[in-house]
Amino acid sequence: MKVIIVGGGAGGISAASNIRKLDKNAEITVITRDNNVAYSPCAIPYVLSGKIKSFDDIIMKKPEDYKKKNIDVIIESEVTQLDSNNKTITYIKNGKTYKMNYDKLVLSTGGNSFVPPINGVDLDGVFHIRNISDGKKVQKWAKNAETAIVTGAGLIGIEIAYALKELNLNVTLTEMLPQIVPRSLDKDMADIITNYLKLEGINVFLGEPITALKGDEKVESACFGDGTCIAADMVILATGVKPELKLAEMAGCEIGRWAIIVDEKMQTSVSDIYAVGDCVESKDLILGSNTISHLGTTAVRQSKTVARSITGKKSKFKPVLNSMVSKVGKLEFGAVGYTTSFAQQNNIKPVVEKVEALTRARYYPNAKPMDIKIICDSNGKIIGCQIISEERVAERIDTMTLAITEGLTCFDLSNMEFSYAPTRTMVTDPLVIAVEEVSKKFN
Ligand SMILES: Cc1cc2nc3c(=O)[nH]c(=O)nc-3n(C[C@H](O)[C@H](O)[C@H](O)COP(=O)(O)OP(=O)(O)OC[C@H]3O[C@@H](n4cnc5c(N)ncnc54)[C@H](O)[C@@H]3O)c2cc1C
Repeated sequence: MKVIIVGGGAGGISAASNIRKLDKNAEITVITRDNNVAYSPCAIPYVLSGKIKSFDDIIMKKPEDYKKKNIDVIIESEVTQLDSNNKTITYIKNGKTYKMNYDKLVLSTGGNSFVPPINGVDLDGVFHIRNISDGKKVQKWAKNAETAIVTGAGLIGIEIAYALKELNLNVTLTEMLPQIVPRSLDKDMADIITNYLKLEGINVFLGEPITALKGDEKVESACFGDGTCIAADMVILATGVKPELKLAEMAGCEIGRWAIIVDEKMQTSVSDIYAVGDCVESKDLILGSNTISHLGTTAVRQSKTVARSITGKKSKFKPVLNSMVSKVGKLEFGAVGYTTSFAQQNNIKPVVEKVEALTRARYYPNAKPMDIKIICDSNGKIIGCQIISEERVAERIDTMTLAITEGLTCFDLSNMEFSYAPTRTMVTDPLVIAVEEVSKKFN
């Protein structure tokens, strides 16, 4: 069986390794435009901040390592044609054109940074970050910069803003909506992080979109809808991801509202073409509708499903809840499932409670406050959770991901057994305190 995978990011390279685990004989070729495979874009902010020494440290494997597994990795090559009738692809490497045929094809073409249609985005000093070479450009420019604007206050925007702050730049984080992390957090929770970022010296400018970037030879300022202009030596656009769909469209794959439509086996509408990662739509676990899940975790999970599908094993990709976690400075924050406003927009009457608990027994040194928000539907079924603290957020988000996946109610969770030692948590875990509080609203 000849398998070609287009894209060597989280989805593509993991698909190659997973197929190899299940089929020792498959001929596997990964073709990618980048000069690296198997690196973690998620780590780019930490190289920028200097926490990780070099971009080389976030490359986990080289193409030669895959050779040992009998996986052929062709880098710096663009797949330009996909003929699904004759089952061939055409790619260009060093100006030369090559053609290959496939039995099974996996599209893991990821996405490109969404660039807002405003004047000045082509100026020198304006960047977006998607891969290591983008990161290197930002790192180089930042060495001679004093001020930076990061626009788009999702996870990536916040992490990059904080990284540039750690390089002692004067940083402004801007967001057109009235809060940061709008997709995952309610405003009151997001405001806790906004206040922390301000205390750490980051200017946060909310509620106005950038309407133009100005400068002669390079960017000098960003101007907003209300007429305000802020000076900047560099601007990072962290304004989202646009799935890369060219090859899928060429092959005639069905495209949904945002990206490629796949079934639970990660198969597209065209036979023998599969797709994974940022270029596909996933099913939302709660509503069952299509959504996007631009997360490395989703791409890697999907790569396992596609490997099983291609090698003829039972496979089913589970719907997503977009469970996420991040850390800026001392503050860890995470979320899973729906925000209050997302629930309302989807005709769910949310029942919501927010509590503040502690991460260790009250008497134990260094116990940190933990803010938890629980969102239930009108039957008490948990549909969302948001947590902010200085420690131990990720594992509680994972617990809540499991709880939502299993359809648990706040009543179920209040009776669940949790581990305890004064050094690690409270005798009644903060999650139990939160679900007990929200349960009271149903009495
Ligand atoms: C700064 C940053 C931080 C992040 N942090 C997190 C995090 O903390 N947690 C998390 O879960 N996720 C995080 N993500 C998201 C995560 O990295 C992505 O969801 C994941 O990389 C998607 O993998 P992918 O394989 O779908 O796409 P990509 O990794 O984008 O790979 C797609 C590849 O396909 C190649 N390609 C596209 N078209 C062609 C073509 N025609 N020919 C040849 N090659 C082609 C591209 O060049 C690229 O190499 C972060 C992303 C960024 C940028």
